Amino acid sequence: MDPRRRIPRTDVLLASAPVVEARTRLGERRVRAIVDGVLDDARSGALEPEEVVDVVADRLARQRSSQLRPVLNATGVVVHTNLGRAPLSTAAMAAVHDAAGYVDVELDLATGTRSKRGVAARQALLAACPAAESALVVNNGAAALVLATTALATGREVVVSRGELIEIGAGFRLPDLIASTGARLREVGTTNRTHPRDYADVIGPLTGCLLKIHPSNFRVEGFTSGVDLTQLRELAGGLPVVYDLGSGLLHPDPLLPDEPDATTALTEGADLVIASGDKLLGGPQAGILLGRADLIDRLSRHPLARAVRVDKLTLAALEATLTGPLAPVTAALHADADELRTRCERIAVEFGLDVVPHDGRVGGGGAPGVPLPGWAIRLPERLAPVLRAGDPAVLTRVHDGAGLLDLRCVPIGDDERVAAALRTALAEV
Ligand SMILES: *Cc1c(COP(=O)(O)O)cnc(C)c1O
Repeated sequence: MDPRRRIPRTDVLLASAPVVEARTRLGERRVRAIVDGVLDDARSGALEPEEVVDVVADRLARQRSSQLRPVLNATGVVVHTNLGRAPLSTAAMAAVHDAAGYVDVELDLATGTRSKRGVAARQALLAACPAAESALVVNNGAAALVLATTALATGREVVVSRGELIEIGAGFRLPDLIASTGARLREVGTTNRTHPRDYADVIGPLTGCLLKIHPSNFRVEGFTSGVDLTQLRELAGGLPVVYDLGSGLLHPDPLLPDEPDATTALTEGADLVIASGDKLLGGPQAGILLGRADLIDRLSRHPLARAVRVDKLTLAALEATLTGPLAPVTAALHADADELRTRCERIAVEFGLDVVPHDGRVGGGGAPGVPLPGWAIRLPERLAPVLRAGDPAVLTRVHDGAGLLDLRCVPIGDDERVAAALRTALAEV
């Protein structure tokens, strides 16, 4: 008998339990494509007819709703730009899940009338940073900067120090971003030194605002000087002083003494601070503006505000990040070195691998010079690509001819998954 006659019939396969379950998760089209693919393999002889049912179930189970694959970040880099910056807290994940359907994002359920969007996230921000009179959330830090310079300085000048004109990654330069608005950039000082008189010389009727930018991804050392917020406040003579902090710390963190924070900046004289939501704040991608109520109001009413507004998922995640448990970014930053060593050793012992001192990094979020002392399991370098391609994908740091597996950014509950990934990878190489 032709073995192909033993291949299960398509309609029988499509009615089987794994296929029915997968249909709600993946949709009819993707399920059909997988079933057809397996049947083609069976017809061509690449699969035994008896394997079809199991292979269909297996391939369906491996499919995810989106092509974005979860990664266990074993690099020790806390805010990892290529891994989507901050991972959300479980509270923020739950909030995103709850907000995914219809929600009262712009409706007062008590009266049935329209309400103001994002009120709860705004309140959470103000509760977390009482130094701010008001707050506004937009799409990301870059959008916040564009909105602020557009609303405060279109047709006028934004005065900024040459030492602060940074490129933020992937070729995006803040000066280009500002120049793309209707404002003109007025650069003062030099790369390493800017003095109060440099500002005083150019501030005048053409000035729209003074902008200070935290050079978050590099450090200038040696013969340097800058103008601090208190001095800028005086020089501004009533013009708005805007400070782009970058990182999103709301309060000082003793671990990162050079990293500016919103509370200190507002207290020292900034009228408006700008920060990202998904760096050290540990929340979703967002641009956060905090400061004087009249300025926030001006920005909110600018037409551009509508083009950079955030969606309900972001608002939900941000609120939950601010009001909920410690964000994973904060936990990873402050992870205890001894505990990291114990976790590494617990895994390493099974494989006879060494545990070595390893410094984590803050990452794309800033603080470029600050090491985060900890430990890593030292692996043969050839394991790194195997771990990366595994399921779950585990990303290690490849350095000095070795793969370094740092558990700082791996949730404690995932240590066993790391061990399992190592077992699989070692069996493969
Ligand atoms: C990261 C950063 C930005 C850009 O913020 P995004 O949220 O990535 O758009 C702007 N300014 C500074 C100082 C930054 O560090």
